Amino acid sequence: MQAEHDVAIQDTDRLEGRAALVNNVKAAVALAGAVRSTLGPRGLDKMLVDGGGGSLVTNDGVTVIETAKVEHPTARLLISASSSQDRAARDGTTSTVVLTAELLQNSLELVRMGVHPSTIISGYLLAEKEAVSELERISRRVDSPDEMKSVVSTTLAGKISSSLASHITGIALEASEIISEEEGGDDLERLRVKRLEVGGGLSTESTLVKGLMIAKTRVDIGTPESSMGGSVAIIDGGLENAKLEMEAEIEVNSLGVLKGFHERSIANLKRSIDHISSLGVTLLIVREGISDEAVSIISDSGITAYRRFERSDLELLSKITGARIIRDPLRISEEDLGVFTNRREQPIAGVTYTTIEGPEKGALTVVFRGTSPQVREEAVRAFDDAMGVSFRMVRDPRVVPGGGAIQTHLARHIRSFALGNPGREQLAIEAYAAALEVIPRTLAENAGLDPIDVVLDLSAAQASDLDNGSWIGLDAMTGKKSRMDERGIFDPLFVTSHSISGSTEAAISVLRINDVLWAKQDPTTPDWKDEEDQED
Ligand code: ADP
Ligand code: MG
Repeated sequence: MQAEHDVAIQDTDRLEGRAALVNNVKAAVALAGAVRSTLGPRGLDKMLVDGGGGSLVTNDGVTVIETAKVEHPTARLLISASSSQDRAARDGTTSTVVLTAELLQNSLELVRMGVHPSTIISGYLLAEKEAVSELERISRRVDSPDEMKSVVSTTLAGKISSSLASHITGIALEASEIISEEEGGDDLERLRVKRLEVGGGLSTESTLVKGLMIAKTRVDIGTPESSMGGSVAIIDGGLENAKLEMEAEIEVNSLGVLKGFHERSIANLKRSIDHISSLGVTLLIVREGISDEAVSIISDSGITAYRRFERSDLELLSKITGARIIRDPLRISEEDLGVFTNRREQPIAGVTYTTIEGPEKGALTVVFRGTSPQVREEAVRAFDDAMGVSFRMVRDPRVVPGGGAIQTHLARHIRSFALGNPGREQLAIEAYAAALEVIPRTLAENAGLDPIDVVLDLSAAQASDLDNGSWIGLDAMTGKKSRMDERGIFDPLFVTSHSISGSTEAAISVLRINDVLWAKQDPTTPDWKDEEDQED
C-alpha cells in the first residue's frame, strides 16, 4: 500500500485518488467490523461505554454506530446511510453498513486491477437496478396473520428474549391496525403512538392503552379522580393572570392601579372560564400554566383541569377526542369541543398517571414497564423496530425470504445478468453479486458456522430446486439450510430493497470522491499495466 504514495509525478491525480480510496475503504470496513457481529438472531450484544462511564448493552447495529464517536467522513457517510435506512424502513441498518463496506472492499480490488471508479459506478448501478426488480419478482404477500407475526418478530430476533419479542410484536401489530386506516405518511407510527416508560413491573407487562396516558395529575385534587366521560376543550396556551410587563412604569404609590390591573386580569380569567363552562365542558386541558385563582374558578364551575401538556400530547388527545386545539379560550365554540369516554388516575411506582380515552381511533399510548431505565429503553427500541415494520407491512405486505436466502439468490441472478453485459462493467457487476453474499456469510459466521461452506451449500441447494430454490436460506437457530417460508423467516420487501439501494448509493458516493480525484484520466484508458509495475 505504501507503494501508492511513492509514485511518479505524472500519475499524481490517479494515485491520490487511489490512496484516498484505500483510506476510505479502511474506514468503512472498520465501521462494519464494529457491527457485523451483531447481525442476525445469533448476533452478539455490544456493550457501549460512554465518556462519563455510563453504559448500554445492545444488539442494535444502528445504536452501536450512532453512539460511536466517529470522525472519518466515509464512516460518517455510512452512518448516515444506516440512519436513513432506519428512518425509511426501521430495520436493516446493520445489513446496510455491512453491505456498503463489502461493496467498497470489492471495488478496491477492481481498482487495483485497473478498473476506473466510473466504470465501477456504472456497473454497480446496473446491478442494483437488476437486483431491485428481481427482489420484487421474488417477493410475495404475507398470506396470514401468523405470517405477519413471523415477519415482525424476525426483525426482533436476537434483540430481546423471545417471550418479550412475541409480546411486543403483538402490541405493535394491534397498534398498527388501529392507526393503519389514518391518512398520512410513514411517520404516523411515531406521531400517533406515544411511548410512555413507567417504572417497575416486568417488561412483558408492557401494554397498549387505547387513549392518552400521561404522568400528570389534575390541578385540583378536590375535583373528581375519574370520570365516565363528557365534553373536553383543549387550549393551546394558558389560563394565567396577565403579567405587568413594565413594572417600572407603575409608581410605588399607585397601589390602586396595581390592584385594578389585578382585578381586571382575574375578571378576564373568569370570563374565559365562564365561557368554557357555558359550553358544557367538563374536562379542560391546557398547554401552559393555570394560575391559582383560575384553578378555583375552574373547580367551582365543575370542570376538571390539567395543565402543562406537551404539544405532542395535545395532538394525540385532539385525535382521540376530536377536540380542536384552540389558542384563545374566548374563541372556543361548540364545534371545537371533543368527547372523552373515560378518564382515570392511578398511581404507579409513586407517580400518578392519568389516562384519557375517547371515541375516535387513530392515536394511542404504549406503556413500557421494567425495573430499570435500561430494560425499558431496550424494550422501547425493540418496539420502535416492531412498530415501524408492522405499520409499513400493513401498507405493503410483500416479503422476501430472510436468512441470507434472498441475497444468495440475487448473487446468483446477478452473476448471470453480468454475462449479458460484456466489457469492464461485467467485472463490477460480478463484484456486486459477490458483495451481496456478505449477508449469508456473516449470518453463518455469527451462528458459529463456516461461512464459505454455508454460502456454497445454499447456492447449490438453490440451484437444484428450480421452483422454490430462492426461498432456501440458513436458519441460524438450527444451523441448517431450510425453506425460509416454512421456518417463518421473512424480511419485508421494503427493508431489503431500501437496504440494497441505500448501500449502493453510499458506496457510489465514496467512489465518486475518488472519481473526482481521478478526473484527469480517461476512463477508457486501461491502466492496469503501470499498476502492476508499481505493486512489484
Ligand atoms: P439489521 O439491522 O440489518 O436488521 P439484524 O441483526 O436484525 O440486522 O439481522 C437481520 C438479518 O437476520 C436478516 O438478514 C434476517 O433475514 C436474518 N435473520 C433473522 N432471523 C433469522 C434466523 N432465524 N435465521 C437466519 N437469519 C435470520
Ligand atoms: Mg433487524
